[in-house]
Amino acid sequence: MKQTLTPVELLFKTFNETTELLMNELDCTYLEALAETGENIFQDKVLQEELSEMAKKRLEKYYNDLSCNSYSKEDMRKAFQLACLKGMRENVQPNHQMTPDSIGIFLSFLMNKFMEGKNSFTLLDPAIGTGNLVTTMINYLPNYDIVAYGVDVDDVLIRLAYVSANLQEHPIQLDCQDSLGPLLIDPVDAVVCDLPVGYYPDDVRASEYDLKADQGHSYAHHLFIEKSCEHTVDGGYLFFIVPNNLFESPEAPKLHSYIKKHLHIQALLQLPDSMFKNKEAGKSILVLQKQKEGVKPPKEVLLVNMPSLTNKQQMEVIMGKINLWFEENKAL
Ligand code: SAM
Repeated sequence: MKQTLTPVELLFKTFNETTELLMNELDCTYLEALAETGENIFQDKVLQEELSEMAKKRLEKYYNDLSCNSYSKEDMRKAFQLACLKGMRENVQPNHQMTPDSIGIFLSFLMNKFMEGKNSFTLLDPAIGTGNLVTTMINYLPNYDIVAYGVDVDDVLIRLAYVSANLQEHPIQLDCQDSLGPLLIDPVDAVVCDLPVGYYPDDVRASEYDLKADQGHSYAHHLFIEKSCEHTVDGGYLFFIVPNNLFESPEAPKLHSYIKKHLHIQALLQLPDSMFKNKEAGKSILVLQKQKEGVKPPKEVLLVNMPSLTNKQQMEVIMGKINLWFEENKAL
């Protein structure tokens, strides 16, 4: 009996098979070929002139079969995410890994709470990568008109973000550059970023930051926090995915005093260890608010140890705790 594929399975199959075809024809990596096929699907034509007639015909057949159905934005994102994950198994550094959508979905719940009362806002991800985090959040925040900006230094990843945003019809403004250099983006209402963790190699540029190291290379993730703060409006919010030991490193005292001077810590939520390869690789969500005259810090910081994000029962308990915190702290 022939099994019918779900829309996500069908999309993934097309992404995957056309990517492999292009990868062989163009002699490039899986991720590069994925960006090519994604652009072909978006433009509804085969754009690569160097292909053999046979390959071109095969691709056209795949694309025609696909266009007989319609797909939701989430179908597109999920299928593209699966293909990216497959490509990343090839050779992507741990720091360039895509943000899993379970985190994006949870972050959209948090963002919705912090943005209550607004109809629209501007959003920046200064390390947008494949765009999976930002597009998951936009898809899960349908009641807001979100004007989004993304920056990344990796040209292949940002090309994937561009293709994925096009396929989901999200008009995100993307720039391929080092986010720690000058950015031509006005301060935004909210920043979201799965921070690249590690040393930043450019000591000259790092020297312009308050959070530069006194000796040797500076931490990129600290500089990203400072840069993001500069690009946030007063009273705006910043949502970071940070290493669990953020406040324990030798550079942490400087980070503490920078935060004290410019920001209010709103929440620190430790993600479950089961999401990461080992305990040392564990991450948390840090929520900050940029200081503004008349805006007080919360009475207490929301501190949570998250259960598995797929454990419905335990998640409901935590959501209840978070909702209570908002009632007690955000109605100031
Ligand atoms: N949220 C992204 C997603 O869903 O695909 C993943 C972000 S990944 C954890 C961190 C990203 O930081 C990588 O895409 C990497 O290329 C980017 N990055 C590292 N250093 C950077 C820099 N100096 N400027 C801009 N982007 C940088």
